[in-house]
Amino acid sequence: MSEPSTGGTLYVVATPIGNLGDITLRALEILKQVDLVAAEDTRHSRKLFNHYGITTRMTACHEHNEAHKGEYLLQLLQSGSDIALISDAGTPAISDPGEMLVRRCREAGIRVVAVPGASACISALSVAGLPTRRFSFDGFLPPKQGARRRQLQEYAACPVTTVLYEAPHRLVHTLADIVEVLGGQRQLAVARELTKVHEELFRGSAAMALEHFGATTVRGEIVLLLAPAPAAQPQVDMTEALRELCATGEMSTKDIARKVAADYAISVSAAYQACLRVRGEKQ
Ligand code: SAM
Repeated sequence: MSEPSTGGTLYVVATPIGNLGDITLRALEILKQVDLVAAEDTRHSRKLFNHYGITTRMTACHEHNEAHKGEYLLQLLQSGSDIALISDAGTPAISDPGEMLVRRCREAGIRVVAVPGASACISALSVAGLPTRRFSFDGFLPPKQGARRRQLQEYAACPVTTVLYEAPHRLVHTLADIVEVLGGQRQLAVARELTKVHEELFRGSAAMALEHFGATTVRGEIVLLLAPAPAAQPQVDMTEALRELCATGEMSTKDIARKVAADYAISVSAAYQACLRVRGEKQ
């Protein structure tokens, strides 16, 4: 569907996740130019506005009034006003208010424009040293232990990095649950206070993380990243697997070597030699 041309524009503007310098020139320009800024917490955003000399009028739009305030903002947009949506930190609508307003604007044919910038999820992923080619973002884990453990169970065989937001007072409980449900050896990263004075990146096993963070009072904002589950170890002995594959007579030595090399994480040439040995046994 093509972009509508009538009415105003809703700009979804990313703001810093700690360091006030992490805002784009375009974001500053738009925050100065729009008719109104819908902010998650106007008092919180005042600090950013004062720092950059932004005097645009603000109105509060947060999780408790988004349904009602969204109607008002939509009417303003329909009558031609330009509005910027910001949250306390990072990108609006990502574990933050905004999803509902954006959807309504789209349904009403209002132009919605991204003004990208910081996001704790992407920032943490970019420095954690875990696989980034594929990842899943799951926001906050449930605060209640039963539901949290059930959700963690879903990551037992997850083949991609999982990015989670976590509250500091829950981190140690969550790490204990990870040890319990996924095992102490599961690799993870904890990115704490990114872009701020006390920035910390912990990388290691769940058991090591529990020991590290369990020893102190955890403070600040946290992104928890779970490494992909380690590949399941084949249950059958390799020589036995080779015997079975050869016995079917359906695969060439080369194809068997490729399969066994992948299954047992060895080189294709080593698998090929092993396959020849097994074929030799039969003669
Ligand atoms: N929309 C935001 C974004 O795009 O980053 C996220 C909002 S969510 C309500 C706030 C959570 O993001 C925090 O509880 C924490 O888990 C994470 N977070 C925000 N700033 C952070 C920082 N500087 N360092 C680590 N985590 C941060």
